Amino acid sequence: MTTPTSAGTPRYILMHDNDNVAIVVNDGGLPAGAVFANGLALLEAVPQGHKVALCAIAKGDPVRRYNVTIGYAACDIAAGSWVAEPQVEMPPARELVNLPISTNLPPPAEPLEGYTFEGFRNPDGSVGTRNILAITTTVQCVAGVVEFAVKRIKDELLPKYPNVDDVVGLEHTYGCGVAIDAPGAMVPIRTLRNISLNPNFGGQAMVVSLGCEKLQPARLFPKGSIPIQNGGGAEPALVCLQDAGHVGFMSMIESIMKQAEINLAALDKRRRETVPASELVVGVQCGGSDAFSGVTANPAVGYATDLLVRAGATVMFSEVTEVRDGIDQLTSRAATPEVAQAMIREMEWYDSYLKRGGVDRSANTTPGNKKGGLSNIVEKAMGSIVKSGSSPISGVLSPGEKLTQKGLIYAATPASDFICGTLQVAAGMNLHVFTTGRGTPYGLAEVPVIKVATRNELAARWHDLMDINAGRIASGEASIADVGWEMFQLLLDVASGRRTWAEKWKLHNALVLFNPAPVT
Ligand code: CA
Repeated sequence: MTTPTSAGTPRYILMHDNDNVAIVVNDGGLPAGAVFANGLALLEAVPQGHKVALCAIAKGDPVRRYNVTIGYAACDIAAGSWVAEPQVEMPPARELVNLPISTNLPPPAEPLEGYTFEGFRNPDGSVGTRNILAITTTVQCVAGVVEFAVKRIKDELLPKYPNVDDVVGLEHTYGCGVAIDAPGAMVPIRTLRNISLNPNFGGQAMVVSLGCEKLQPARLFPKGSIPIQNGGGAEPALVCLQDAGHVGFMSMIESIMKQAEINLAALDKRRRETVPASELVVGVQCGGSDAFSGVTANPAVGYATDLLVRAGATVMFSEVTEVRDGIDQLTSRAATPEVAQAMIREMEWYDSYLKRGGVDRSANTTPGNKKGGLSNIVEKAMGSIVKSGSSPISGVLSPGEKLTQKGLIYAATPASDFICGTLQVAAGMNLHVFTTGRGTPYGLAEVPVIKVATRNELAARWHDLMDINAGRIASGEASIADVGWEMFQLLLDVASGRRTWAEKWKLHNALVLFNPAPVT
């Protein structure tokens, strides 16, 4: 637990020399009168992760962090004051015109060669990091039946197939009671289709349908949409609960188990083999963020992202509302003008989506973010974007689309942890990196999640939930490069089968399909 008294010499972290605020590092914050090494004295107590004014800031003047105006002073702020949320007025969103396009492309980085992991190579060329039987559901109505069947499959069948790691029902709340022909409906439908094709499932699509639902199996998997079918057949294996042949509940369970055994036998033939690090498909995300997210964990992720891109791997960063305020940083890093335009297209789409709901990007921040020192979405976004590292951005995905290229990819998703994770699973992610400052036990059944703590205090308190402690960057025990390399190595180990804490405890959040279309 945090203590009311602060520990150690008063310290702050300055992100850029042009900034006029910095954040307090000390566990438990600092009391009034605390004096920093440069002589600056605090006029009032400042909690850990919150901002202190490094000089006097007049009302209306910019408050600068990350060399960016994160807001304007709502009143005169004296040097040494706590710059809390009410003192910072948020600037309007950057208009999506006259953006710098591909003006800040780094020189080609030296390839990083010789790194490998032990993965499951699929017939379509993709590589899984786990060997999982996934059972796709077309509609929520079948969820209880599938849950019942999955438990029996795990108890009775899985022990016979030791090379298979797990059995997962792909449950969701979509499939019926929705405007299935609405333009936005293609998002949840293609998401569910592409999730079923995730490399960790070995191309063994198996579907449980109710029968009368709007999302018919033929709409979910139109002919030709599955590159690899179950057992080489023409269609995904299908169990329909309303089939006349099903007499009584147990006959449905028997049908599901019979098909599951066929798929388990096929999956059991998969073996890990040595593959290059370029086969990693890493989704990066943050959740339960605090002011340290953008100082420790996210910069370390950004460092690892650059290593992965140099190794030829794929890294997706996402979360539209958390990059919206830094769009100029992203369009300037777009590998081509087409990539920049695709990014702008996704921002415009999301702006209008939020507008239809009567809000804007400022609806993103949570009470916990603010308690952790993040005044507004601009400040949060600047700390979120650093996960993308410094490589050129080589592609853009719309929500629910599947990856077709390697490199650094902007996969447009909501910032909601579960929806972002679900969409990254659909894109083809085989490893997930998740940073947190407030602390979240987030995990997925489909893909290993490596969790990174932003602060030593959280890493110590949640010692059996956090896989990496980036808080050592703030306390000066490790550099961003140290933690970035540690993360890169851990990614290879986890991809090869080492279990994360979330896997050890079987912490699995629900898949949540993004449905921008109406329900009926
Ligand atoms: Ca998130």
